[in-house]
Amino acid sequence: MTTNGNHKQERAGVTRPRRLLLCLDGVPFDMVRESRERGLFEGWNAPSHLLSPFPTMTNIALSTMLRATAPLGYESLYFDRTSREIRGGIGKYIGRRTPDKLPSSYMDELDYQEPLPFEFLVYVAPEAVWRADMRRFDEQFRAAPQRRDYFAFLKGTDGLLHIRGAEPLRRALESLDKLLNEIRAWCGAETEIMLFSDHGMTIGEIRRVHLQTHLRRCGYEITDRLNGAKGRRAVAIPAFGLIGYAALFCDEENTVKLAEDLTELEGVDFSIYRDRASAIIVKGAKGSARVHRREEDGRISYRYEQMTNDPLQLAEIVRGLSDEGLLDNEGYASAENWFARTATHIYPDALANLYNALYTERVHHRADLLISLKDGYYYGSSFFAHIVSLKATHGNALRASSTAFMMSTHRTLPEFVRADEAQPLLKG
Ligand SMILES: [Zn+2]
Repeated sequence: MTTNGNHKQERAGVTRPRRLLLCLDGVPFDMVRESRERGLFEGWNAPSHLLSPFPTMTNIALSTMLRATAPLGYESLYFDRTSREIRGGIGKYIGRRTPDKLPSSYMDELDYQEPLPFEFLVYVAPEAVWRADMRRFDEQFRAAPQRRDYFAFLKGTDGLLHIRGAEPLRRALESLDKLLNEIRAWCGAETEIMLFSDHGMTIGEIRRVHLQTHLRRCGYEITDRLNGAKGRRAVAIPAFGLIGYAALFCDEENTVKLAEDLTELEGVDFSIYRDRASAIIVKGAKGSARVHRREEDGRISYRYEQMTNDPLQLAEIVRGLSDEGLLDNEGYASAENWFARTATHIYPDALANLYNALYTERVHHRADLLISLKDGYYYGSSFFAHIVSLKATHGNALRASSTAFMMSTHRTLPEFVRADEAQPLLKG
């Protein structure tokens, strides 16, 4: 199935109502549920929990949700595995949005997104950007052909939450609800409106993790370029947005020791890295575990092997699966059973989510080791840290950042949806 413009024209208004698809960057499920309790989005169907993939970042989430091409790296500053050096950065935000600045093909599907300078300004003047963005979206949507689907992305909500916190977002959702009511009255019942977000958000005080300082103390060299010199404990760690994860690149022989050294650092929840060809290791202060994946006749199953203690807090779930006879004699349970039992866990759908973070192409240049920070901590550029103070962030594998939402005026959607299963619901 394709998602190009032709496909769009064939289906909209023929086999299903024409659709307005509106993505609100960074709005967590809980805030949408709360806004409905306050009387907003009246007459809409109940929101689904849409599980955002780790690291919970816009380009990773949207390329997965829309089954588009993977972005080069986790952020615009990234490590290139071929040249073995850090590339990209702030230059992406300067000038026009030329094809080389598009992180993923999902951007080709957008009918509306903010002008390029807003991508940066949204973190300096989020209220002004949100208001301008909503007005521009409204104008452009009304001027567009009314028989075709329309897909818009509003970034202001992410900026509002990061910089101002929950209260301004509540007001923004009120103004959005008003605008969508006007749009509904204007379009009539022939247009379905679908609202969704790319990732959630952890709201509250956030401190910096002293990742580079800690690793230097442990004897590592922090570098922009890995040249493969033997005996050198070099690590590249792109530092960009002020975000709850970090991607580390190093020579393979250093990974195990690196994960061990990271367990002592305040703010680190756990690290993950590849173990041989079909497993990952999860290692943190709370212990270590191996996650195995198996595929037989197209059926996928996972096994959680506790090595020391229970870093993902899944022991009780494993007991439950065992009691119900859902574990085979090697300790594997089906991906569906894990999903059904862990969709609201503090690490939602952890086994599939973390395994796929290292084995599938969520980004083109995958890290050797990924850190998921505890809620309340970030890693990122010290330049950005000087110009903004954070009220919220996302990026880690915990529930608040991982739980986005999806909601329709016309359809009842499943209660829980994995990011890689969202595309047929959004675009089908
Ligand atoms: Zn953000």
